[in-house]
Amino acid sequence: MRTIGLIGGMSWESSAEYYRIINQRVRDQLGSLRSAQVLMYSVDFGPVAQAQHDGRWDDAAQVLEDAARRLQAGGADCVVLCTNTMHLVAPRVEAAISIPFLHIADAAGQAAVAAGTLNVGLLGTAFTMEQDFLKARLAEHGLNVLVPEAEERQSVHRIIYEELCVGIISDTSRDAYLRIIASLAARGAQAIILGCTEIGLLIKPEHTNLPLLDTTALHAQAAVAFALQD
Ligand code: GLU
Repeated sequence: MRTIGLIGGMSWESSAEYYRIINQRVRDQLGSLRSAQVLMYSVDFGPVAQAQHDGRWDDAAQVLEDAARRLQAGGADCVVLCTNTMHLVAPRVEAAISIPFLHIADAAGQAAVAAGTLNVGLLGTAFTMEQDFLKARLAEHGLNVLVPEAEERQSVHRIIYEELCVGIISDTSRDAYLRIIASLAARGAQAIILGCTEIGLLIKPEHTNLPLLDTTALHAQAAVAFALQD
């Protein structure tokens, strides 16, 4: 089995989900006492989030390049960056290592294609919804990506940083997200990409009729597929 390297901590609420899903899938595939070989380098999210909001992406990239190098030096066979937003600096992280970097948008894009849902709504931080780094990569898979309207984007973004990243799961916020999902569906979305690794803690398949493409689960599954490849 290959060793999965995780860059976590952004936030740790979702890194814990990656760890759980990766181990659950290895158990499902290999048997009851089997578990994944995992290294995690978990950063302090406070300074990283501050750098994002100050537009100091170079500073944030340096933290992640360092984390990726440490994972490689520790024996990881691949690097998985456990956040959509920080894929803004994915080219920098990928260039810092010589082991494969498993891009989160490839996991989501391939799942959307497999499900035949090429018109997708995208929920995530304002960085992810408004800038091109993730949408362009999804478009390379043939996806047509819709994002919420400006006011809705503000609300989605605020709930991520003020609630989901600090472990607050609220019915009011779930209702707000479900209204935004409904308006994306009315505009033609056939599925919703949960393009922030904490959203799956709030919105589950039983909350909506629309198919959900949860980047946390899909990225974790891609890591397991890599780890178990012959
Ligand atoms: N985990 C989130 C994401 O997937 C947001 C936190 C971050 O900014 O890294 O985008």
